[in-house]
Amino acid sequence: MTIPDLLLDGYRQFREEHLAEQAALYRNLSKMGQSPSVMMIACADSRVDPATIFNAGPGQLFVVRNVANLAPPFEENGGYHGTSAAIEFAVENLGVQDIVIMGHGQCGGIAASLSSRPAGKFIAPWVDMISGTRDAIVRDNPGADSATLQQTLELAAIGHSLQNLLSFPFIKAAVDTGRLRLHGSWFAIASGELRWRSPDGKFQKIV
Ligand SMILES: [Zn+2]
Repeated sequence: MTIPDLLLDGYRQFREEHLAEQAALYRNLSKMGQSPSVMMIACADSRVDPATIFNAGPGQLFVVRNVANLAPPFEENGGYHGTSAAIEFAVENLGVQDIVIMGHGQCGGIAASLSSRPAGKFIAPWVDMISGTRDAIVRDNPGADSATLQQTLELAAIGHSLQNLLSFPFIKAAVDTGRLRLHGSWFAIASGELRWRSPDGKFQKIV
């Protein structure tokens, strides 16, 4: 077998330690189907796993992860809209009550947006989604150091994604009738600090 040791050892440990005690839960989720109430749009970064950070078990979070935790705008042109497909399924089929855009510190995707170096064939057009927000931040913060610009954009990009979510007609309708709430959060890797976005766009530390 060519399964990496990390995965083989991890699966065996999961089977012995968790599956044994959660066997009934998994059987029930299989029989009843999933009904998570929260969708998370998080970064693909290996350090910011929503299930770990929110101590969530199987069936509790519907998660899509991509570079820089971006929600794209509603677009009907061709293309492989993976994140939009997940958003549609979460809202229209699962009926989630909350969608959380979850950003984080030291995000490589956000750094790519701020970098003058080419970011990659697929990364560059993806993070170009937030170029307007990036340009405004760079313009409005003359002389700011790179760490400040980085964190400012990490937080602002969350607001950008929340606006993009509202461009989906089914999300706008669900928000307007109170069936769905949109949230922003940001996780600091080094300290484990979590911040939650207020309606005014500021972020408060969760204590
Ligand atoms: Zn990231």
